[in-house]
Amino acid sequence: MTDLVLATKNSHKVHEIAAILPPGCRLRTLADFPPMEDIPETGRSFTENAAIKAKFVSAKLGGWALADDSGLCVEALSGMPGVLSARYSGMHGDDVGNNCKLMHELSVLPALAPYKARFVCSLCLAKDGVVQGSFEGCLDGEIILSPRGVYGFGYDPIFVPEGHSRTLAEMSAGEKNSLSHRARALEQFATAWQKVCQRR
Ligand code: IMP
Repeated sequence: MTDLVLATKNSHKVHEIAAILPPGCRLRTLADFPPMEDIPETGRSFTENAAIKAKFVSAKLGGWALADDSGLCVEALSGMPGVLSARYSGMHGDDVGNNCKLMHELSVLPALAPYKARFVCSLCLAKDGVVQGSFEGCLDGEIILSPRGVYGFGYDPIFVPEGHSRTLAEMSAGEKNSLSHRARALEQFATAWQKVCQRR
């Protein structure tokens, strides 16, 4: 078993990643260590931000770290909120505020409906401060202007995946994990991680 620290303070991400992660990892989270300062997410892409977080945590704690940077890109808003997804309405992690702002902005663009959108998840694996691999998963769908469902987090209540009629927040955790951008990125990570474990 190899220790792997999830470089995130987002408990929703921790739960989703822990449920999907391949065998061979002894999973740690930042909660297992003394409090760490917030890591400035100054990258211009999900990949850059995931690398910043994975490098920082793996250098600080030593060993392996996996970081997730993810968000929603809406076609009618030229890809926004993108890397600003977590703090779109101003305060980091204000899911209700973020959803309200997004729905309001789209409501004044009726000619652009249906509102195509894409969830992106970029994972970065780093060891002792050095990036070892990056993995990306996407999920295409549509934004609706009246939230539905109670599961999940973030933009889940207003996102309907392509080929489905329910929002991600109307799906069970298992169902979301079978199709999500995070699950797709984790599938690729699993292959790379298997090689790491075989080398040890
Ligand atoms: P990060 O912590 O900087 O990567 O920001 C991630 C943000 O993107 C979250 O706060 C959510 O607003 C959004 N997000 C990422 N993944 C998901 C998801 O699976 N469902 C809903 N929202 C998500």
